[in-house]
Amino acid sequence: MIHQPTTTHWTAEDEATLLDTIDAWVERSVRPIAREYDQEDKYPHELVEEMKELGLFGATISPEYGGLGLSASTYAKIVTKVASAWMAPSGIFNSHLIMAAAIERCGTEAQKRRYLPRMATGELRGGLGLTEPNAGTDLQAIRTVAKRDGDHYVINGAKTWITNSLHGGGILLLVKTDPEAQPRHKGMSMFIAEKGEGFIVAKKMKKLGYRAIDTCELVFQDYRVPADCLLGGEEGRGFQHAVGGLELGRINIAARGAGIAEGALRMAVRYAQERKTFGKPICEHQAIQLKLGEMAARVEAAKLLVESAARAYDTGQRCDMEAGMAKYFATETGVFCAQEAMRIFGGYSYSTEYEIERFYRDAMLMCIGEGTNEMQRIIIAKQLVERNRI
Ligand SMILES: Cc1cc2nc3c(=O)[nH]c(=O)nc-3n(C[C@H](O)[C@H](O)[C@H](O)COP(=O)(O)OP(=O)(O)OC[C@H]3O[C@@H](n4cnc5c(N)ncnc54)[C@H](O)[C@@H]3O)c2cc1C
Repeated sequence: MIHQPTTTHWTAEDEATLLDTIDAWVERSVRPIAREYDQEDKYPHELVEEMKELGLFGATISPEYGGLGLSASTYAKIVTKVASAWMAPSGIFNSHLIMAAAIERCGTEAQKRRYLPRMATGELRGGLGLTEPNAGTDLQAIRTVAKRDGDHYVINGAKTWITNSLHGGGILLLVKTDPEAQPRHKGMSMFIAEKGEGFIVAKKMKKLGYRAIDTCELVFQDYRVPADCLLGGEEGRGFQHAVGGLELGRINIAARGAGIAEGALRMAVRYAQERKTFGKPICEHQAIQLKLGEMAARVEAAKLLVESAARAYDTGQRCDMEAGMAKYFATETGVFCAQEAMRIFGGYSYSTEYEIERFYRDAMLMCIGEGTNEMQRIIIAKQLVERNRI
């Protein structure tokens, strides 16, 4: 278990101890199993048990609800460390904590008391149910509908690409409570949806990367959820609830991108010293040095952008543009470094005996999830204009 300070304030020393604990765990438990579990697409149940012990499922949940109460800055460093060895397990607590953050930010006091302590221990693990077959970026186009029926709602529809939905106990589910509403977002609501009759995990999806973690298609067939599971207790606020979590979500994904980049760089630096061509280690060839230099500079820049966005988030400053920049740059850096490392590894990069091919497969997802990188640049540009009106 991570040592938790007696106050809710984590000192620099507490943070350093915590990050050392995570480092040791990553080296002991995460890195050694990554290749096998990724290749066999096997869920790491034992890691989940260890994450519970470490308190990771409650990392950003407030201590009053049983969590560690970490800042976004400290949490982002944890995510980067895990992702630098294997990105997939970070999704097991990442998506879960985005759900928890939405409950803590938007839920009623009764909802916070009912769900957050169970989420903090990892007894109830969850994720986010936003995307549908016809609606990802354009979330307001979703078709899943919840109709009021006495003291329940009855939900029908389908979701796709929902992470943690096979092994988790529930999700935060975005629906339409008024499909005819204009503007469309006024008819959207969110439910804390625990598994039960009518909540059907239809299919575990087969993926290029981000394997071992469960991402599924879900069907809701007359799924009845008590009315007091409506997040915040008020219809029509689901879209705001969903987008309100995006800043933290983007910082999380940016931290994963920085982790992938750092991990790929580390492997490349090592391999470039081991591999010899023309009588010398390839790190002594200028073509390889140019790659390593570029990768290293981008990794540092990515980590600094993540840190700066997380710090802005922690101090309560507006940080949509900052989180967007961090997400965009750090995840593109993840892809860049994974690709450059592939080139440095030469033919061996293509062997599943080496780890680098997994980084290459995992990296691209970070450019798509939590708002595509096309959308990030559009958000950055809109913010630039808004903040610099003439
Ligand atoms: C492995 C994996 C795990 C996931 N986990 C989850 C999860 O746990 N929960 C969840 O809800 N979702 C999840 N998703 C879904 C993910 O969030 C969506 O895939 C993502 O939001 C993009 O939506 P889409 O795939 O429908 O693409 P689309 O929205 O169809 O976009 C296609 C392309 O068009 C571009 N585009 C769209 N609209 C515009 C515009 N207005 N201007 C410019 N360009 C535009 C996009 O940038 C993209 O390049 C996951 C996806 C994957 C692959």
